[in-house]
Order: sequence, then C-alpha cells, then structure tokens
Amino acid sequence: MILMRIVLMGPPGSGKGTQARKIVEKYGIPHIATGDILREAIRSKSELGMIAKEYVERGDLVPDEIVNEIIKERISQKDCERGFILDGYPRTVMQAEALDQILEKMGYKLDAAIYLDVKEEEIVKRLSSRRVCTKCGAVYNLLLNPPKKDEICDICGAPLYQREDDKEDVVRRRLKVYVDRTKPVIEYYQRKGILRRIDGNRSIEEVWESIDNVLSTIETF
Ligand code: AMP
Repeated sequence: MILMRIVLMGPPGSGKGTQARKIVEKYGIPHIATGDILREAIRSKSELGMIAKEYVERGDLVPDEIVNEIIKERISQKDCERGFILDGYPRTVMQAEALDQILEKMGYKLDAAIYLDVKEEEIVKRLSSRRVCTKCGAVYNLLLNPPKKDEICDICGAPLYQREDDKEDVVRRRLKVYVDRTKPVIEYYQRKGILRRIDGNRSIEEVWESIDNVLSTIETF
C-alpha cells in the first residue's frame, strides 16, 4: 500500500496543480488543493464561499484559522489514510505549524515538501496565459500546454476562461503575498530537513520526471 504524505509548494503558476494531477494518476493518493476548495465554495455561494470571496478576488490570503479547519476536516477523511498531496497549503508559517500539529495528533508526519522553484519572469508569463475549463476545471496554458481547439477544453468541449485572480494587477499582489508570507514556509521545511527543491523552469514532463524520482525515494509500502 502506498503511504505518502506530501506538500507541493511553489509560487502561483509554478505548475503545482498540473504536477499534482500526475501524482494522483500514478500514485492514487487524494489531491487536496485549498484554492480549488475555496473557488468551489465561492461558486456555490456557501457560507465559507461568502467569507473567502473578497480575499481570493483581491489576491490576499484567506485567514489561517479558516484554511486550517478545512484541511483538518479534509485529511481526517477515510480516503486520506493512505496519504495525500497538499497543493497550495500551507502558505504561512502558522499554517505549517498547524499542519504539523494536526498530523501529530493523527500519529502521522509529512514525508516531503516538494518545492517547485520558478523564476519570477516565467511566473508572470505563465499566469497571464493560463486558462481553465468552465465545466471540468482542466487547466491549460496558451503557450506551454495549449488546447487543441482555440479556447475550448480538449476533455469536455466547454469554453475556457481566465481566472479573475490571474489578471495582471491581482497577479502582482499574489506574488508579493507569496514572497512575504509563503517563502518563509520553504525555510521552515528546509530546517526540518524534508525540503526537496526542484527546478520548475523546465517542461511539464521534465519537472514530472524529477518529482517522480523524489517520490520513488519516499514511497513506503
Ligand atoms: P491557488 O489556486 O492555490 O492559487 O489559490 C487561490 C487563492 O485562494 C489564493 O490567492 C488565496 O486567496 C486563497 N488560498 C488558497 N490556499 C490558501 C491558503 N493555504 N491560505 C490562505 N489562502 C489560500
């Protein structure tokens, strides 16, 4: 049985979601993305969505207590017993500490924090050309991973859209938030000795190969 508890880190647009999907495909562990959970809550206008909306749309972080609660509840579910991959969480040192505590109470620990290191110019380029399917959520990049038909999803045929927070002014805000709040989390995992840095400036396949190499060293049966 595969047991793998990992965190996928990196700036917005570093390819976390794309690589997480590949990990799910190969290793079958659940992919938990706080950004996806929050966007779904906003779309369905739930209580959580109403609270999260203004933060997400501004490019600010949703308060730690809220995302910590989401994660605590999610990773306690049965499908996470065999492990999980967290994408976009933790984003602050407080969240990283909360995660350690949640896992400790469950008798678990993190196996690795995989950090996709991508240059800032590359990030801005990638985010402005990212498009998402309005129906199935598949993610494309007009430059790196374009759909076969212009602005139409290859998988389900629905039109693609640009995330509100991928527009230029919000991208700048998100990058600032990343540097101020999330970079320290990388140091946090470095100090713990579980950080695995990967050069994320390469193609999807090259990055995947490096991630898969790392994963094959931590996979436990
Ligand atoms: P993402 O899809 O990971 O880029 O997340 C989109 C937005 O959701 C972020 O810009 C934040 O507003 C919010 N968000 C996602 N994950 C977190 C988190 N761990 N802590 C706080 N806010 C988050």
